[in-house]
Amino acid sequence: SRVNNPYEGAKVYVNPEWSAKAAAEPGGSRIAQQPTGVWLDRTAAIAGVAGGMGLRDHLDAALTQKGSGELVVQLVIYNLPGRDCAALASNGELGPTEIGRYKTEYIDPIAAILADAKYAGLRIVTTVEIDSLPNLVTNTGSRPTATPACDVMKANGNYVKGVGYALNKLGDAPNVYNYIDAGHHGWIGWDDNFAPSATTFHAAATAEGATVNDVHGFITNTANYGALTEKHFSIGDSVNGTSVRQSKWVDWNRYTDEQSFAQAFRNQLVSVGFKSDIGMLIDTSRNGWGGTQRPTGPGATTSVDTYVDGGRYDRRIHLGNWCNQSGAGLGERPKAAPAAGIDAYVWMKPPGESDGSSKAIPNDEGKGFDRMCDPTYTGNARNGNNLSGALPDAPVSGHWFSAQFQELMKNAYPAL
Ligand code: BGC
Repeated sequence: SRVNNPYEGAKVYVNPEWSAKAAAEPGGSRIAQQPTGVWLDRTAAIAGVAGGMGLRDHLDAALTQKGSGELVVQLVIYNLPGRDCAALASNGELGPTEIGRYKTEYIDPIAAILADAKYAGLRIVTTVEIDSLPNLVTNTGSRPTATPACDVMKANGNYVKGVGYALNKLGDAPNVYNYIDAGHHGWIGWDDNFAPSATTFHAAATAEGATVNDVHGFITNTANYGALTEKHFSIGDSVNGTSVRQSKWVDWNRYTDEQSFAQAFRNQLVSVGFKSDIGMLIDTSRNGWGGTQRPTGPGATTSVDTYVDGGRYDRRIHLGNWCNQSGAGLGERPKAAPAAGIDAYVWMKPPGESDGSSKAIPNDEGKGFDRMCDPTYTGNARNGNNLSGALPDAPVSGHWFSAQFQELMKNAYPAL
């Protein structure tokens, strides 16, 4: 009974809690009615944290917003054991071995609520475990980017088992549409990562009772900053006989932007056994890169570097930078079926919510301090030892960051 693209012909749920925070910001009413993801980022989020809305509250509010039409609710399933193994900012509440608690205390209660007949008329999109499975490919073993925590999660299998279990249980409700997180072009777009990631996703989608029929599609760029479509250079270009793939920015990646990556990766996923009608979502919440720094034409053809750096919309210091990026703007507004193979542009990361604190802040959420969120940090192997590009004075991940919200509005593209 699932439709091919749940976003077509449907409104998308506006989270009243995010909406109120956005509306309280100067200028925020311009975007406060946009739909954003509801992050179930700890077990307590199911019932509601500190008097806030829980999952049933959101689904009840969604029924009201739905009226007699169709409505999509966007949930983020985000609580794996040993979460965020290549970073610290979003470390979670469950230790690496606590797969049993993940199943019984987190996934089972969510699955039970989603299966309630009361909610059968909602189209429930679940995006499953951001930034997890790709870490098993890129940040383990003999890779220079490996971390001990990711090696542990690869060895114990709990990311693969957790994702498989989630897909299987959540997928039991016929109105649930599971989308697996697939990283982004600045991560999976290299040959070493592209095919192995698809294979790892297939392993997870066939673990713990899941099958490819439990997978409606994939989401890319969640909470990241990769430009949707770079218009002033493309992967086939060369300058004085040198390919742009040899520029410092592209560094042999096969893709220059999210949309070309998402479309190509979709084909790869089908080729390893996912259904031929899977659809992609792209998180465009923070990849607009507008404002005064946005290039209006290609860079100078002095070298591949001047050409790429002068023309690229993505103004990051390095493609591997991921925390509270300075200069970023809101991207394309959420939209159904914007391009071939793409089910929707979505705002899964709620604009204005921090990616991580810029210094250590004690908290009871298990969140660590990752120096990639510190603007004075000079980097590690995962960002080519560059400055982090992060905004200063950021709160713990997930907490409201007014200065970032203002920056995102200022640099929105399309402009507000
Ligand atoms: C945080 C979560 C938060 C989410 C959405 C993540 O980085 O770890 O706690 O819910 O971002 O803002």
